[in-house]
Amino acid sequence: MHVNQFEELVDPYVLERGAYYFEQGNVIGVLQLELREFSGQVTGMEDYTVLLRFDASGELLVHHCTCPYRNSPVCKHKAAVLYYIRHHKLLEQPPSEDEVYHSIKSELKGYSAKELRQLLLDRIKMDRAFKEAIAWELGLIG
Ligand SMILES: [Zn+2]
Repeated sequence: MHVNQFEELVDPYVLERGAYYFEQGNVIGVLQLELREFSGQVTGMEDYTVLLRFDASGELLVHHCTCPYRNSPVCKHKAAVLYYIRHHKLLEQPPSEDEVYHSIKSELKGYSAKELRQLLLDRIKMDRAFKEAIAWELGLIG
């Protein structure tokens, strides 16, 4: 799915809802912390976060949303953020500096797999939404 052609592959109803969200300003912020990787905040009935990662050609490699919609691979939040990224030409801009994010990334390089697993499990015990996100990521819940 390419950033310039995603319309062809997304369910028309979802696309229409996503376009409406984008036009109404429901995409309240998009951050690029890594090259061609974006985190978008979308508001509506509830707030959701979208993660999109592209390759150098603009092909979408990874797409996640925290919403429960699973009827098609792309939800209206992802579609809205895709419209936003394309409209603002964000793929052509350098990543933003986020000191905390980059400090965490750098710190984690020194962690072993066992330490990382423990960190993740401790967080899972404390944060129900995070637990469900990880379960979904692992394909344990639909
Ligand atoms: Zn969504």
